[in-house]
Amino acid sequence: LTSAEIEGIRARFPILRREVHGHPLVYLDSAATAQKPDSVIDAESDFVRTSNAAVNRGAHFLAGEATEAYEDARDTIARFLGVDDNEVVFTSHATEALNLVAYALGTASSGRGAGSHTDAARFALHEGDEIVVTELEHHANLIPWQELAARTGATLRYIPVLDHGGLDLDAAAEIIGERTRVLAVTHVSNVTGAVTPLDRLVPLARAVGALVVLDACQSAPHLPLRPRELDVDVAVFSGHKLYGPTGIGVLYGRAELLDALPPFLYGGSMITTVTMDRAEYLPSPQRFEPGTPRLSQAVGLAAAVRFVEEFGMARIAATEHALAARLLDGLVRVPGVRMLGVDNPAPRVALASIVIDGVHAHDAGQVLDDRGIAARVGHHCAQPLHRRFGVSASLRLSAGIHTTPDELDLAIDAVAGIRPFFGLGEGAGA
Ligand code: PMP
Repeated sequence: LTSAEIEGIRARFPILRREVHGHPLVYLDSAATAQKPDSVIDAESDFVRTSNAAVNRGAHFLAGEATEAYEDARDTIARFLGVDDNEVVFTSHATEALNLVAYALGTASSGRGAGSHTDAARFALHEGDEIVVTELEHHANLIPWQELAARTGATLRYIPVLDHGGLDLDAAAEIIGERTRVLAVTHVSNVTGAVTPLDRLVPLARAVGALVVLDACQSAPHLPLRPRELDVDVAVFSGHKLYGPTGIGVLYGRAELLDALPPFLYGGSMITTVTMDRAEYLPSPQRFEPGTPRLSQAVGLAAAVRFVEEFGMARIAATEHALAARLLDGLVRVPGVRMLGVDNPAPRVALASIVIDGVHAHDAGQVLDDRGIAARVGHHCAQPLHRRFGVSASLRLSAGIHTTPDELDLAIDAVAGIRPFFGLGEGAGA
């Protein structure tokens, strides 16, 4: 993107006009939640103002219009991912999407299918089967698998992280084997920003017929996301990290898998026939969307997808690639600052977590906040990875489509000022 384009983009994010503690807001917390451009805010509020109605089944005009808007949103997401409409399920966030898949696999394992037209047993897990995750997962892509293992008697194994912060691919080749039924892995680490080498991991899972579940929360806003090209069975992301609304997530599932899986939640809008004893379920996506769906959120998310598509994910990725290099180069020069996973040679997005010698992450975050810089502090829902790095918390800076090189320089400069602010000299640890 040209700097003129980025200026144009910035003008479309109303929140960027805010000042914080007398400074222009420098928003470097997009990995936690992204800000929203006018077109997303307007799409949501226009829908509520003009077209709101319960979708499906309604005989009236607005119900038809709302149904169309909802299904158009699904179609926009499907095209964005290069998949079919019935492979896109709206959830409330990525967390729910991951829980849905893990729970449905557990139900399939208990011998309960989804109705007469399904084939859930193929995906059932049993004692002795293995679920493989990695040591760097967000808790949302770890705990549901712990629970699935507990429900089915399967064993949870993990691919360890090497000292440089990347995954141990030799260990992965040992761990992924005949017993593996599921490989669940993140596309981009929300702590190191590194892109997972899926080209090395997915073939290992494919060779043994395991399902591949991809947590694309941190990749969807920054890289082209094509689940079929990546050869994964499931990919999930949250709307709010892709410049869209909160309250909506996307579950992509390969049709063959979704058609076989039993539901996660049960109720209205998902059935063909119900008697007092039993129910028959609709195919995907309706089977997985019981209850009144998230209408304005879906419409807002579609607007967010159209927003990033104006520029193209490939161009966004190239621009942010340069930001990632600038962030890394700047941070490694600051004395007393350690960037987690800095030596990992993998490509990365513009996201970095740092530990500052002698200063707690929360105190460091406070110093940045005083200058109007929004950063995240804590374990970022990745406690095992922080434990692996030997720390309990870090400070994370993460860029978005509106981030300028100047903003990163400002943040790096502010980081350089943190140890002196606390009276700590160059290199002198506490
Ligand atoms: N996975 C990753 C890698 C994430 O960064 C996040 C959000 N921090 C999640 C999953 C969960 O997303 P949500 O809270 O929107 O469900």
